[in-house]
Amino acid sequence: MHVVSRELVIETRQRRDIVNITDQVERVVRESGVRNGIVLVFLPHATAGLFANEDEPNIRRDYANLFERLVPASGDYHHNMIDNNADAHLLTTLYRQFYVFPVINGRLVRGTWQELFLADFDGPRSRRVVVLVMGE
Ligand code: ZN
Repeated sequence: MHVVSRELVIETRQRRDIVNITDQVERVVRESGVRNGIVLVFLPHATAGLFANEDEPNIRRDYANLFERLVPASGDYHHNMIDNNADAHLLTTLYRQFYVFPVINGRLVRGTWQELFLADFDGPRSRRVVVLVMGE
C-alpha cells in the first residue's frame, strides 16, 4: 500500500468564513500517484469544521445564515468567562473534523455539487488541513 500525507495551510479572512478547499485536496490526490484507495481529510482544530456541498454566492450567504441560526455569535455562553469563542466551539460540535472520499482511477470521487469546504468559526487565522491518501 502506498501512503502519502500533506498538510495544507488555509488562511481565513473573517471570524466566520468558509473556504472551498476541493482543488487543493484533489491536487494532493493527483500528486500522490495513488490510483485506487481513499483520501482522508482531517482538520486538527476545535473551532472549525468541514462540510461537502454546493458552492455558489447565494448559498454561501445561506450557509452564513444557517450558522447564525444554529449558534448565534453573541449569546450567554459559559465558556466566554475564560475565552471569547464559545459559539465557535459549539458550532464545531455540529460539523465534522474529517471526511473520507474514494479515490478511483486516480481521481477523488464526489458528487457534482459536492465541493469540500473548510468552515472557520473563529477566524481570521491560519488553519491546518491534513490530507492522507492511501491505496495503490
Ligand atoms: Zn475557547
